[in-house]
Amino acid sequence: MKRIAILGSTGSIGRSTLDVIASHPEQLQLVGLAARSRVELLAEQVQRFRPSLVAVWESEKAQTLTRLTGNSQVFIGVEGLTQLATHPDVDVVVVATSGCDALLPLVRAIQAGKRIALASKELLVMAGELIMRLVKEHGTTLVPIDSEHAALFQCLQGVSSEQVARLMITGSGGSLWGKTAAQLHTVTRDEVLAHPKWQMGPKITVDSATLMNKGLEVIEARWLFGIPIERIGIVIHPEAVVHALVELIDGAWLAQMSLCDMRVPIQYALSAPERWASPLPRLSLPQLSALRFFEPDLEQFPCLRLALEAASIGGSTCVALNGANDTVVRAYLDGQAALTDIPRVIADTMAQHTPMAHPTLDDIMAVDVWARTTAQELILQWSPR
Ligand code: MG
Repeated sequence: MKRIAILGSTGSIGRSTLDVIASHPEQLQLVGLAARSRVELLAEQVQRFRPSLVAVWESEKAQTLTRLTGNSQVFIGVEGLTQLATHPDVDVVVVATSGCDALLPLVRAIQAGKRIALASKELLVMAGELIMRLVKEHGTTLVPIDSEHAALFQCLQGVSSEQVARLMITGSGGSLWGKTAAQLHTVTRDEVLAHPKWQMGPKITVDSATLMNKGLEVIEARWLFGIPIERIGIVIHPEAVVHALVELIDGAWLAQMSLCDMRVPIQYALSAPERWASPLPRLSLPQLSALRFFEPDLEQFPCLRLALEAASIGGSTCVALNGANDTVVRAYLDGQAALTDIPRVIADTMAQHTPMAHPTLDDIMAVDVWARTTAQELILQWSPR
């Protein structure tokens, strides 16, 4: 029996993880839940799953939770999340928070030897070198939930890194694929948020539309699998059936295929290296008329170009990229910035940043704060609304 704690239980990945846990009562037991804003939903989850450990970000949310559930022992803030993630009753920590403040709890959980199932790619973008070094030092494992990386992880079982020629990440293209430059200027937020294939939270849906998500995923793959950036490619694959491919040195390709349902990679992250039967709908091959693959256009999608630039510089530049992107995307979602401001704010923040090659945890947190402040100032300068 694996005992699971979820950081970010009310988001899209957190809810899917609870579904997977509910379908595997013999193998999985939920012992901890943490959430930021949707405290009513968290209260429902607490009442249904009865975890012994609960954490929230803010103390006033803790009071509401106590009122709704009668549970008076609620951990609070980053310290509370850390207590939950390192608790002796927890075997596996699922990290599925949107935003970056789960970095410290993640680091402490690794240091406590917990197995990690990681959905929050931003944390690997910011601190991948440090995180993977700690995973090795503390003899634990970190398994990706991000669908492309879960696919790579599956393709790479039994394959050594010397046998790998290239990793290939696929992307459906997001909601803006195929639009002309003129159309991109007039696209509405609702159109941006209508992802053709995946139901996800708003931040990652915007990242998918700008293709920033693919850039972040290249950085994520670089750290997870220890393959240099030059040997990680991206293809647009509108059917979103093949989630990633590995080209081997002898010219053979391995691919992982499944329906677009995050419960597939979440379940494997919790079962690996075992496979468990699953009640989920299945892919029907005769219903697929084609599998198409296209080169992404870096002119049309400047965010992807910026992410690949940051990836090749490496170090703290990826922290600056991520902090600026997170800030301007949230401003876009709040109506405080335009879609076209996103690459401008990121480019200007990156231009003002002095890169550090191997940042420490303190450096990473300081650059993150700096990048967010800088991006916020740029947004206010350009969009005095
Ligand atoms: Mg992904």
